[in-house]
Amino acid sequence: MLSVLDIFRIGVGPSSSHTVGPMRIAARYRRRLAKLALSPDMIAMIFRGSLAFTGEGHGTFRAAKLGLLGFRPETIDMAKAEAALAELERTGALPDGTRVETVVDYEQPTRLHPNEMQLIASASGERIDGRTYYSTGGGFIASHAQLSRPAENDLVQTDQPVPYPFGSGAELLAICAAHGLSIAQVMLANEDARRPRETTLAKLDRIAAVMMDSVDRGLRASGPLPGPLGVERRAAHLWNKLTTAPPNEREALFDWLNVYAMAVNEENAAGGQVVTAPTNGAAGVIPSVIRHYCHDEDGRIQDSMVQRFLLSAGGIGLLYKQRASISGAEMGCQGEVGVACSMAAGGLAAVWGGSPEQVCAAAEIGMEHNLGLTCDPVGGLVQIPCIERNAIGAVKAANAARLALHGTGKTVVSLDAVIETMRQTGLDMSTKYKETSQGGLAVNVIEC
Ligand code: SF4
Repeated sequence: MLSVLDIFRIGVGPSSSHTVGPMRIAARYRRRLAKLALSPDMIAMIFRGSLAFTGEGHGTFRAAKLGLLGFRPETIDMAKAEAALAELERTGALPDGTRVETVVDYEQPTRLHPNEMQLIASASGERIDGRTYYSTGGGFIASHAQLSRPAENDLVQTDQPVPYPFGSGAELLAICAAHGLSIAQVMLANEDARRPRETTLAKLDRIAAVMMDSVDRGLRASGPLPGPLGVERRAAHLWNKLTTAPPNEREALFDWLNVYAMAVNEENAAGGQVVTAPTNGAAGVIPSVIRHYCHDEDGRIQDSMVQRFLLSAGGIGLLYKQRASISGAEMGCQGEVGVACSMAAGGLAAVWGGSPEQVCAAAEIGMEHNLGLTCDPVGGLVQIPCIERNAIGAVKAANAARLALHGTGKTVVSLDAVIETMRQTGLDMSTKYKETSQGGLAVNVIEC
């Protein structure tokens, strides 16, 4: 069983699979070299598949270099990171003198996952070590050996027994019914097997705090986002309009959800700190819904509501991760914003007092109307359509939760069925629409 803390990870933008994952891979490889007491004079990093095609726009190569330099997504100090990176670019080497080479391989097909990264260490021109890794979405990584043996990879952690293991939505609902528990209570009991409850709740509070910080930073910042598209940030302008003359039209709900989601995704596009929810590209949907709905009458965010939201949404997210994928390179955007929408819908239904069946129904509706959603980022940047797509995903999540709560929780299409449908649709989807920027908007919008 995965932990809810595997689904929500603190990282940096713009992409969990293309920024956070490669940074973690490079750091892991350095640890491997240290453990083996190897002292190369050069490390080559070879990027293949989606990491090659959209790596430049996603900041993949920078992130991997930062990983070699010892930075981690959860704790990175951006000022120190920029200084270290500038020094590496100037000298071409790490502080210990090890030269770093970046190779973008568009030709060789990837083997076990579309996000492949190979690291080769050499000394005096001789190869002394090499390893292939995969960035499997949401910041998860696996070595070639791990991914070849699914039972032992880090996607399904079986080492920690939990009181309520479940592998499907049906099993989760059966556990809830048998023990009279909510989905959040089941998740928390499972987390209790891993660490003290206070630690879990403190970590959830920290995740929520980073989410809200990313909203706040995005609401204040203005100007163009990085990259050649010249995309202007819009959240701050919309926020000023909303707060100086609050709209009273019925559609105002959309404005609030839109502005919070866009604030986070503009921060993500700018390389700021966000939480994978379940990925960086889809990082705005859940914070937006939390920000708009999980507060008291004075506007203060309510920790208990947020914890219930995150535990319920996390339970749904791990079903997608374990039964399908949350990687845009495997599933298209249905696996990122679609999953975020499904998770947010379930989390919101739980906060609104929905039964476990209604929570799963909300999650099902949230995904059902994202099936087939492609990933076609213009210029390989996580900006168009990603920023607006999160806004649309947040609104859709609230609507899905409403629809579910008006029902009994009984649905014709089960959550498991829609997850499997997403998986099959993702497998059938052309690679042009799976984070390669070779189709869709990416080829129909002219870059200036
Ligand atoms: S289109 Fe969706 S999946 Fe693709 S980079 Fe943007 S947010 Fe991620």
